Amino acid sequence: MDYSKTTKPLKTAGGRQTASCGLAMWICFMGSAFFTGCGKRAPIEPAVGMDSPEQTWVRVLLFGNLDQCTIAAPGGFIVEGIDNGVTAEFSDTQPMRLCLENGRIRIGHHRVGQDVMIRSKDPYYFLVDDAGFRGNLHVRVTEDGTRIQMINHVPLESYLLGVIGAEMYSYWEPEALKAQTVAARTYCLAIQHRFGPARLWDVTRVQSSQMYHGLAAENARIRQAVLETTGQILVAKGNDGSEAIFPAYYSSSCGGHTENSQAVFGEDWINLPGVACPWCEKITRRRDFFWGPVDYPIDGVSHRLMERYPVLQRLERIIDVNVLETGSHGRINTIELIGTNGQKDRLRGEDFRLALDPSGLRLRSTLVELIKIKDGIRFDHGRGFGHGVGLCQYGAQGLAREGCDYTEILSFYYPHARLVRIQTTAAQ
Ligand SMILES: [Zn+2]
Repeated sequence: MDYSKTTKPLKTAGGRQTASCGLAMWICFMGSAFFTGCGKRAPIEPAVGMDSPEQTWVRVLLFGNLDQCTIAAPGGFIVEGIDNGVTAEFSDTQPMRLCLENGRIRIGHHRVGQDVMIRSKDPYYFLVDDAGFRGNLHVRVTEDGTRIQMINHVPLESYLLGVIGAEMYSYWEPEALKAQTVAARTYCLAIQHRFGPARLWDVTRVQSSQMYHGLAAENARIRQAVLETTGQILVAKGNDGSEAIFPAYYSSSCGGHTENSQAVFGEDWINLPGVACPWCEKITRRRDFFWGPVDYPIDGVSHRLMERYPVLQRLERIIDVNVLETGSHGRINTIELIGTNGQKDRLRGEDFRLALDPSGLRLRSTLVELIKIKDGIRFDHGRGFGHGVGLCQYGAQGLAREGCDYTEILSFYYPHARLVRIQTTAAQ
């Protein structure tokens, strides 16, 4: 894999935080209590350069529909009103209730506005209820005025500390952790670029983006993987011939062969090719690698699909499903749906799987056989776990055990990609 170095930072939406207004009114709420930390351990080290605007920042949706919570910060925090320009400093380190009052956000006894940036002070982290998150919190009232949205603005490298330990066992091989870190960093920046600043957040903290557990996921081994790959991302030539960052997808276990991204997601910018991967089967317990049977009554299938995709109601009720296209390695890529009125529609296999089982824990992959049974369908002889595109996490661990370093693991799962380094942290 080629390795080139560049100091050119990516332009990131997360870095555009609201600057303090020169005319802002300062109010100080002084407190004397010591920070108790709610019994949680302190982070291993403070985030680097939190007070520098030179960071690449990520905006993570923590809560889209919050009623209330408590917040606390060991160093206190500053609230900046995005909508009203009022700035208030809270030095009380005890947990305070954050809730809605007459359509405005209330923290402790103070109403602070409808749209605020809450900036943590050194050591730059919050406890939201019992969960620790580094960085700042953008808190706003939802459009309908009834709930609270909370978005964590966090430097990219600090964000990764909270992702890698949530996505992979931290006791796994260091080279597997490093490969995972580069993939997660690349994926996050690619998604950030794809959606841009118009959306108030770049990624969620759940599986639909990548898991993010904040401070709870951090430990020394994760920190080492992040530090040793700081700023390293993958780029590849797209179908238009230009080289750029791309969503470096990854999943738990590919079941023996990864699938090309176009077949699963219909990506049109880059097509990640599928590769044979014997490594995940070697190290996964047999009962975790092979799965099935899983049965669904056809009425349940119809109900779940129409709930997820209301447009399918034009079929009235789904009475039959057929596999229309299977990938060259056995993955179900397209499903045909047939309605009581004779009309037909189709869904991508992955969308079909997650509509039937949003958790993905029962229907673990589309590398499975679909069998008709009386009044329903059966998924049997399944293999692997996840969508199967890009890096196979169990496979990466297998390759690391065989002695491959993280650059070899990455070039195995992203064969046309090139590793480059960008500046993601403030110059020291
Ligand atoms: Zn695999």
